[in-house]
Amino acid sequence: MKIQGGCLCGNVQYEVKGPLSHADHCHCSMCRRQHGAAFGTYANFNPDSFSWVAGESYIKIYQLSSGNGWCFCRECGSTLGGTEKGEITSITMGTVVGDPGVKPESHIYVGSMAQWYEIQDDLPRFEEES
Ligand SMILES: [Zn+2]
Ligand SMILES: [Zn+2]
Repeated sequence: MKIQGGCLCGNVQYEVKGPLSHADHCHCSMCRRQHGAAFGTYANFNPDSFSWVAGESYIKIYQLSSGNGWCFCRECGSTLGGTEKGEITSITMGTVVGDPGVKPESHIYVGSMAQWYEIQDDLPRFEEES
């Protein structure tokens, strides 16, 4: 299974060869701010299966002192994934073109959920990590 995705302006494109796994919605205050949304939705993959197809030079990483961060397109601002020590470790499901083949399995960091948001599904909820 080949998953393809990219940013809003189209400069950055990526490909994941092989299935995605462990998709979840992260409600932590950092993901909320970084996305400007109620939560961020990420899916993981086998590290060997990810590649930038186009526009890698547009990628900028915002890294926290913990070593975790996000990579985004410096032209349009689309967040393409989560990073650990500068390496992409998850993709944002909103940037996938077509069917990613997985669905979010849980809500994490609901302890810091936005006060104006209500979860409307029955997926498991975790105060912090799942
Ligand atoms: Zn872009
Ligand atoms: Zn988060």
